[in-house]
Amino acid sequence: MKNKFISILVPCFNEEANVTLIKNEIDEIFFNIDVDFEIVFIDDGSQDKTILMLEELAKKYNYIKLIEFSRNFGKDFALKAGIDYSKADAVIMIDADLQHPPKLMLQMIEQWKAGYEVVYAFRKENNPDAKFFNKVFSKLFYKIINLLSDINLENGIADYRLLDIKVVNQIKKINENELFLRGMIKWIGFRQIGIPYVPEQRLNGETTYSNKALFKLALHGITSFSTKPLYISIILGLSISFIAFIFYLIYVFDSLYNDYAISGWASVIFTIVFFGGLNLIVLGIVGVYVGKLFMQSKNRPNYIVRNTNIQS
Ligand code: UDP
Ligand code: MG
Repeated sequence: MKNKFISILVPCFNEEANVTLIKNEIDEIFFNIDVDFEIVFIDDGSQDKTILMLEELAKKYNYIKLIEFSRNFGKDFALKAGIDYSKADAVIMIDADLQHPPKLMLQMIEQWKAGYEVVYAFRKENNPDAKFFNKVFSKLFYKIINLLSDINLENGIADYRLLDIKVVNQIKKINENELFLRGMIKWIGFRQIGIPYVPEQRLNGETTYSNKALFKLALHGITSFSTKPLYISIILGLSISFIAFIFYLIYVFDSLYNDYAISGWASVIFTIVFFGGLNLIVLGIVGVYVGKLFMQSKNRPNYIVRNTNIQS
């Protein structure tokens, strides 16, 4: 029987110190099992020597593949590119910084052979690198995203997963210019199973996600998967208008009944400012969705490849 063929996707953004290490770790696992494999490095517009190192590796070893982006497009698109080029029976996505213990791949493959189509890893403990703020933020992120959207993500779910070819073929067809892979893979269905892991320290370099980027990610995560915020705006608007109307009636009848003029500019200013703010918030929410329509309607490519040694 022919061996199964697995493509390991490694997105790289300024990982010159890590690429050789991760390659060695992967080698150690896959040279000892009956699975054929390739390692696809996706260089996401690195500014350091990552691309030179990768080219060297690709020259030396024919199972090392390389997709080079024209600039930084973000990790999700790097992974999407890896998927788009894949001809394997399954893909495994793993970070280049060795925070995802490579040994877990053996368990993933086992579960895959047992019939699961998506095998994902989730953090049992918090990322040791994460700052306090990030930890709190991460918890809050999953709470809010689950509340506001139609998907259900576990806290600590990682971009470390195995996808069967059936899932890969579905993701190939998806063309969203704001890709949130973690949510997408939950949404896509199929037989899924999670395996817990304890994250390692980042080996070299620094994490590239700033708080601003995380906030953006949270907003994308929520608005890409549901229109609930729009409905919440409507309900908020309706309930506040209703309360205001009741107050208005009470005031008018009270002033007529007790025969006095309604006064107080402070309350008027307060009301104006309050509703002004509310208007802006709701307008902003609507704006986010309109913006998404605008960007998607341009139908631009989601990433641009400068160079690759993968034959299509
Ligand atoms: N990465 C990428 N493009 C980016 C940012 C990150 O391809 O714009 C890669 C990075 O090289 C690493 C993985 O995504 O392999 C995870 O990045 P990082 O360790 O910075 O994120 P964290 O572990 O903090 O989530
Ligand atoms: Mg990391």
